[in-house]
Amino acid sequence: MKKIGIFGGSFNPIHIGHLILAQEVQHQAGLEKVLFIPTNDNPLKEKDTKETVAERYEMTRLAIEDNENFVISDLEIRQPGFSYTIDTVKKLKSIDPKADYCFLCGEDIIFQLERWKDFEELFQLVTFIVTYRPGYDFKKLETEAVRLKQLYDAKIKIFQAPLIDISSTAIRERVVMGKSIRYLVTEKVHQYIKEKQLYLE
Ligand code: ATP
Repeated sequence: MKKIGIFGGSFNPIHIGHLILAQEVQHQAGLEKVLFIPTNDNPLKEKDTKETVAERYEMTRLAIEDNENFVISDLEIRQPGFSYTIDTVKKLKSIDPKADYCFLCGEDIIFQLERWKDFEELFQLVTFIVTYRPGYDFKKLETEAVRLKQLYDAKIKIFQAPLIDISSTAIRERVVMGKSIRYLVTEKVHQYIKEKQLYLE
């Protein structure tokens, strides 16, 4: 059965931590492709910056265009309002019912899952592939994965990927402070941020 990765995020902006995670999981899990799905504005995240969904989408597109296994998807942003992962997964399953879907994420996500819409059903529809993330407690991740497996029969796999101590928040802060973000984002994304003067205020 073909395996497809779903990688959702605000990607504000997409950075090398995202790309390395996706590449490592795609390769280790033998995924046919990874769908990068930029989200509309997320009710679980406070929005304090003014760049648009279209700009986040474009940066994501630019960052992955040279990788034949990475595909951009506008599934969530082409409709107004925030899309819940359960609804996105159901749509993908209706498009390609035979595919085996994995949901890629960093370890911070694991601790939020019980707040997601219909998370118990989601656990039955996808395998979560989680990678460690600097600044988080690795032991706590393992304990949480065991708890979710026991309680909900969740399918959770923990993968090792190179630890990249960067976040979109840190990138935005660096821009505000006039620090360089070169090599923390791809060169095309770096140029795009400069041209559009993103994150300056
Ligand atoms: P922000 O700082 O704005 O909260 P972020 O850097 O966490 O953003 P998101 O777009 O919210 O980026 O994340 C999308 C996914 O990528 C999440 O599953 C998150 O855990 C994961 N991720 C982001 N950065 C890293 C990183 N450096 N290492 C591992 N996973 C990461």
